[in-house]
Amino acid sequence: MSTPTVKLNDGSEIPAIAFGTGTALFGKDCTDAIRLAINSGFTHLDGAQAYNNEAFLGDGIKAAGKPRSELYLVTKLKPGLKAADVKTSLVDSLQKLGVDFVDLFLIHAPPRGPVKPEDGTIQDLWHAMEAVHTEGLAKSIGVSNFTVEDLKAIAGSKIPPAVNQIELHPFAVPGPFYDMAEMLYRYIWKAAEPIVKYGRENGGTVPASYGGLSPLVRAAGGPVDEVLPPIAERLGKALGKPVTPAQVLSKWVSHKGAIVVTTSSKEARIKEYLETSQVPDLTAEEIQAIDDAGATQHKRFFMKQYFE
Ligand code: NDP
Repeated sequence: MSTPTVKLNDGSEIPAIAFGTGTALFGKDCTDAIRLAINSGFTHLDGAQAYNNEAFLGDGIKAAGKPRSELYLVTKLKPGLKAADVKTSLVDSLQKLGVDFVDLFLIHAPPRGPVKPEDGTIQDLWHAMEAVHTEGLAKSIGVSNFTVEDLKAIAGSKIPPAVNQIELHPFAVPGPFYDMAEMLYRYIWKAAEPIVKYGRENGGTVPASYGGLSPLVRAAGGPVDEVLPPIAERLGKALGKPVTPAQVLSKWVSHKGAIVVTTSSKEARIKEYLETSQVPDLTAEEIQAIDDAGATQHKRFFMKQYFE
C-alpha cells in the first residue's frame, strides 16, 4: 500500500502521513519503533534535534533496510538556535541520521523573547535555512509553530516555507472565547485556521498537523468524541470494514489540507493509521459537525510554556 502524497510549493512531493519521534518517543531509543513503522509502510519520518533521539532514528532507518530514496526524512532546528547555528546543527543531524540530506528541514519554533543584536533576526534565521537548501543539505525548507505574524516576517523571501507544522485538531480552530486568559492565550498563539489560510494564500505553504488525535487521547470524553462514532459507522459500512474514531479524526485533518503527523508504539495502531488513506471522504456536513463540536471548547496541548 503506497502512501498518498501532497505537492509542496517547491514542486516536491511529501507523503501525506508521517511517523513522529517526538511526544511519546521524546528522548527515547526509538530504533525498534522506527523499524516497525517503516516495515509497516511509513515512509515519512518526523524527527527533530530537540527530541534528542536522532541517532536512534538513524539506527531505525538502517535496521529497516529500506533504500534512502524511498524515505522522506524530516528534522527540525532546535528552538533557540541562531542563524549561525543552522548549517552546523544540520550537518550534525545528518551525521546522526546517517544520511547526506534531509527531505525537509523545519525551524522548530519561531524566536521569542528579547533578541540581542548578535543573535540576528527571524529573517536572518530564514536566510540561513535558504542557504542549506541551496547547498542541497535540505531538499525542502519550512517552519513549525509559526503564527501569521511570524509568517509575515519572512514573507517576500526568495523561498517561501514549504510547510508549517502546527498543532491542528478540532479544538485548535477558532471558537468562542470563554475568559480573558483564554483570549490572551489565543491572541499570543493565534488559532490554527488563520495560520493555515495565510500560509496557503501567501507562498502556498502546506500545513502539517501534530497532535491531531488530541480530542480523543488528551481530552477524552469531550464534545468531539460524541460526533465521531456515527461517522465512523457510516464510513465503515461504505468501506466494508470497521473504521475507528481516530481514523475519522485523521481524515478530518486531511480534509483541512494538512499533512498528518502522528505516532504510536503499537503495531495494530500503526497499521490503522496507514489504512486511513483507504477510508472514504467525510461529507461536508460531517466535517462541519466535527468543526462545530470542536468550536465549543478551545484547548491546546503543546508548546504552551514556550509561547506564553
Ligand atoms: P497524535 O495526536 O496523533 O497522538 C498519537 C498518540 O496517541 C500516540 O502516543 C498513541 O499512543 C496515542 N493514541 C492513538 N490512538 C489512540 C487511541 N485510540 N486511544 C488512546 N491513545 C491513542 O500525535 P502526537 O501529538 O503524539 O504527535 C505526533 C508527532 O508530531 C510527534 O511524535 C512529533 O514528531 C510531532 N510533534 C511536533 C511538534 C512540534 O512542535 N512541531 C509538537 C508535538 C508533536 P500509542 O502508542 O498507545 O498508540
